[in-house]
Amino acid sequence: MTTEGPLTGKVAVVTGGGRGIGRAIALELGRAGARVVVNYRSSAAEAQAVADEVGGLAVQADVGTAEGCQALIDAATALGSLDVLVNNAGINADMLMLRMSDEEWRSVMDVNLDGTFRLCRAAATVMLRQRSGSIVNVTSVSGLRGNPGQANYAASKAAVAAMSRSLAKELGKRGIRVNCVAPGFVETDMVHAMDERVVDGIKQVVPMRRLGKPEEIARVVRFLASDEASFVTGQEWVVDGGLTA
Ligand code: NAP
Repeated sequence: MTTEGPLTGKVAVVTGGGRGIGRAIALELGRAGARVVVNYRSSAAEAQAVADEVGGLAVQADVGTAEGCQALIDAATALGSLDVLVNNAGINADMLMLRMSDEEWRSVMDVNLDGTFRLCRAAATVMLRQRSGSIVNVTSVSGLRGNPGQANYAASKAAVAAMSRSLAKELGKRGIRVNCVAPGFVETDMVHAMDERVVDGIKQVVPMRRLGKPEEIARVVRFLASDEASFVTGQEWVVDGGLTA
């Protein structure tokens, strides 16, 4: 892709970039000029299609493991720099707390929290040498408000937000910004897996009376990732159609 945009000349990593919100983010950053590393765990064909569309690179890595995180950052830095990291990959394993197993708790933490921490640490090592970089972590309104059946998921997202504020304070003087985007309910497989009646109920309490589109999250991520947001750090931007207003 030869487009001149706010991210021209930058290398951007998007975790879970083959599907859902991650796909929209990868396409948006590509359209903004970035060379995008489209990470996936199992959606190989989808990630390759996204990479082909923006002239990027699809890289398989399980961000729920230490090895996967390091391999992903190594693949990106092999392109010459690492300017943007978007920690989008996330899972849920919903269950009421009394019936939640250690495995359901642990698996969500491994991907959503530990993976995000490890990728931030590995990327910051590179960004500190460059004295520039932007990290955007995808959190959730669930982490702000809590949600029945999501003790694990909500805790992981709230922890990512708190970690991000700390990293912003650690890294700001070295030119690295760290922000979060907290989506409300967005039309992806994660929400399609929910009962239709629950989704209808959600729409009734969203002031805009609808779910969000992945592109509506992606545009905010693109802004925070680029120098257009050069004085924004340590923030969690809520994109939820007014749900938490
Ligand atoms: P989704 O449709 O379920 O897609 C999940 C994505 O995460 C996939 O691309 C998947 O890749 C990737 N992923 C999961 N585990 C991974 C791992 N171990 N290593 C690498 N990639 C992994 O989810 P989504 O709705 O797009 O959600 C994206 C992010 O937004 C998540 O962090 C989610 O918590 C957050 N969010 C979503 C909503 C919503 O309403 N949809 C609301 C608030 C926050 P593969 O397909 O390759 O496995």
